[in-house]
Amino acid sequence: MITEYQLRLLPQQAANEATIKDFVSRDKGLDVRTITHVRVLRRSIDARQRTIFVNLKVRVYINEQPEDDEYERTDYRDVSSAPSVVVVGAGPGGLFAALRLIEIGLRPIVLERGKDVHERKKDIAAITKTQKVDPESNYCFGEGGAGAYSDGKLYTRSKKRGNTRKILNVFCQHGASTAILADAHPHIGTDKLPRVIENMRNTVIGCGGEVHFQTKMVSLLVDGDSVIGVNAVDLTSGEEREFRGPVILATGHSARDVYRYLDENKVEMEAKALAVGVRLEHPAALIDSIQYHSKNGRGRWLPAAEYSFVTQVDGRGVYSFCMCPGGFVIPAATGPGQIVVNGMSPSNRGSQWSNSGMVVEVHPEDVGNPADTLCMMNFQEKMEHDCWQQGNMRQTAPAQRMVDFVRSRLSFDLPKSSYAPGLISSPLHFWLPSIVSKRLQQGFEVFGRTSRGFLTNEAVLIAAETRTSSPVRILRDSESLQHVCLSGLFPCGEGAGYAGGIVSAGVDGERCADAVKAYMSAL
Ligand SMILES: Cc1cc2nc3c(=O)[nH]c(=O)nc-3n(C[C@H](O)[C@H](O)[C@H](O)COP(=O)(O)OP(=O)(O)OC[C@H]3O[C@@H](n4cnc5c(N)ncnc54)[C@H](O)[C@@H]3O)c2cc1C
Repeated sequence: MITEYQLRLLPQQAANEATIKDFVSRDKGLDVRTITHVRVLRRSIDARQRTIFVNLKVRVYINEQPEDDEYERTDYRDVSSAPSVVVVGAGPGGLFAALRLIEIGLRPIVLERGKDVHERKKDIAAITKTQKVDPESNYCFGEGGAGAYSDGKLYTRSKKRGNTRKILNVFCQHGASTAILADAHPHIGTDKLPRVIENMRNTVIGCGGEVHFQTKMVSLLVDGDSVIGVNAVDLTSGEEREFRGPVILATGHSARDVYRYLDENKVEMEAKALAVGVRLEHPAALIDSIQYHSKNGRGRWLPAAEYSFVTQVDGRGVYSFCMCPGGFVIPAATGPGQIVVNGMSPSNRGSQWSNSGMVVEVHPEDVGNPADTLCMMNFQEKMEHDCWQQGNMRQTAPAQRMVDFVRSRLSFDLPKSSYAPGLISSPLHFWLPSIVSKRLQQGFEVFGRTSRGFLTNEAVLIAAETRTSSPVRILRDSESLQHVCLSGLFPCGEGAGYAGGIVSAGVDGERCADAVKAYMSAL
């Protein structure tokens, strides 16, 4: 017999399959020896009250064996002799587009300017050692895209747009823990993501697709009003190559050379609002004690605590973004003369710090002429360059204690931080754009009132968080997903302005693959 139950357990009762089995047998009056397996279908933590509960939906197998797969498998077929589609970018948008193309009988040729996910690790480590950023291989560029070295959070607000469950299942098929199918706030972790990404690449190659690393698209091949392929350069040899087929352009939010190329060639785009600010880092134990209402923190059975804040100040949203409990603040610039910070966490979220982006919504009209397509990108770039100058023209990031920032005073010293290249005390309140700093100051006062202990000088602001989304939108038709003026060009994922986050970029990649199929069928 198979039965499903909704349960409300204490954290120690929900710790593992054995403790859940024990609870079910006692609560439901079942003989524990007859319970062959318990599968957790949904898991969420209810931390609203002093006593913390774990809400579970479980499937209990009584004298029965569970089905083999805990996830839904996708069939990938051989596409060696199928028509080719060029996919530019091997981030989640590009990778999920490639896998979906295979599923529907088309052959992806994936071009990625960066290195494979393992080689890339060395360039990332070198940022701290040498204080230099390789403009082709860094935290944003390389196999797996911007999400490869991240917290790997897999939740998205854009459920309306596509099948987010399918994305999670494909991750499981490629080696992610099936816990991501159950958790209310699933995440994979930076230590586990590279293997999953490598397995996805192996599926693409194993089915007859191609993946070219260190191969940068430099221009589109255009015939009349149609895009028929791309010109790319092999970054190891300097050799130029042509790749032909409809083009899924999934180059992410940091490929400024791509935006400049499109702008110079009058490919229709528009400036887009985005949010910028700082990374805020607290001791993880402090966040745990606030969120779990206990001076003992998370204890043995609870994970590092999460938070989420949002308010409005002077007509603009101020909010926490991409929270990394038990994580690290990392240097995420993509070129020289910039400081950009972001966050990542290992799967156990075990570091002694918790961080999140604290950002303010900025609209094109706040920074210049909205008709200037690249005005938001130029604004982002200036802020990153200012940080680099304030950081002594190295990757040492300008930083300020949280209360000092709110009270507009310089910090005489800084707390220990996870940011490996180092911090330098700086009056962020003074030189960050005032449309950002003034709103952040007020926002922090609000968050401090909502959550006692959150506004503290034990926390440090690290500048600047600027790559929260794309600064432009590459205009596409909402039905065919093709560029509004160029057929055969499918702007995709976060860089095109149609996704924000790993899952939504994956969903958009799948949608673009389907749109390419419809386009090719109609030719
Ligand atoms: C440090 C960090 C942590 C993050 N944490 C999370 C998280 O926990 N959860 C979450 O949902 N989101 C997170 N994000 C955001 C998430 O990574 C992005 O939303 C997502 O990766 C966007 O996917 P994409 O495929 O559209 O673009 P990207 O992932 O940016 O991929 C674009 C790819 O295109 C390549 N490329 C660019 N130009 C060219 C060219 N000319 N030729 C060939 N290739 C090119 C790039 O090298 C890159 O690999 C994080 C981002 C960062 C930087």
